[in-house]
Amino acid sequence: MASPPIMRTIADLRSAVALWRRAEESVGLVPTMGALHDGHLSLVKRARQQCRRAVVSIFVNPTQFGPNEDFQLYPRDLDGDAAKLATVGADAIFAPQVAEMYPEGAVTAVTVSGLTEGLCGPFRPGHFQGVATIVTKLLLQCLPDAGFFGEKDYQQLQVIRQLARDLDIPVRIEGVPTFRESDGLALSSRNAYLTPAERAIAPTLHRVLRQAAADMEAGGTASATTDRGKRELFGAGFSRLDYLDVVDAVTLKKIERLERPARVAAAAWLGKTRLIDNLPVAF
Ligand code: AMP
Repeated sequence: MASPPIMRTIADLRSAVALWRRAEESVGLVPTMGALHDGHLSLVKRARQQCRRAVVSIFVNPTQFGPNEDFQLYPRDLDGDAAKLATVGADAIFAPQVAEMYPEGAVTAVTVSGLTEGLCGPFRPGHFQGVATIVTKLLLQCLPDAGFFGEKDYQQLQVIRQLARDLDIPVRIEGVPTFRESDGLALSSRNAYLTPAERAIAPTLHRVLRQAAADMEAGGTASATTDRGKRELFGAGFSRLDYLDVVDAVTLKKIERLERPARVAAAAWLGKTRLIDNLPVAF
């Protein structure tokens, strides 16, 4: 399959979408930061199942990186990404420039409170504001029928659901299950940073989350469940833990006992690499 056309400006994106709309074709948008892997491609496949056209945005968004994070280092490979997207039938790539997305003098940002106070929020100040702002802009630039987001970034997914509702953006937000390696490790562009030794330890994160979900489902308390999980993560060689929490699946507030569907979520470090993952806890 030929590589999808790459649109570099908002005007080009809008013209392409307008043509499809004239033909009464539905449009799905998959926002990404590139360095695409099979997890991203699973989102595109889902978009292609639900919509006639699938647009994939590729934009390494500077405002969602903290000053000490990996914005400069973040892997970029537009040609490789385009080749992968050709294999799943994406209709277009939207790869805008930073200068057009954040022109001189832009001072408006989107803040979603509550949902961003726990989990990754305190460890990545400003991150969710950066995400909420760029996703709002992308949704308004494209005006798709549906936007597709991974459950891998569950807090982000909930934030996006909330902002679409609160700002009356006429889009359906679809969550797509996490795509994993056969050993359980969730695919992530940041896995490329892991050394072979770290890569061998990394699947423990998923194993600990599975055990934690099972412990909660069997009637355990969050404190006992997370104490056990933390011991196992450090025992396996994780060097630092930002959090291992059990939270309400909708509000993301910490819970102690299971009274509604919940989520176990963790952010843990292997050397210089921060891994996140989460799983549902059935009620
Ligand atoms: P990113 O490029 O990392 O910002 O991710 C772009 C989109 O892909 C987000 O909606 C992520 O949640 C989603 N995503 C990343 N990794 C995975 C995965 N392993 N499985 C499913 N979705 C993913």
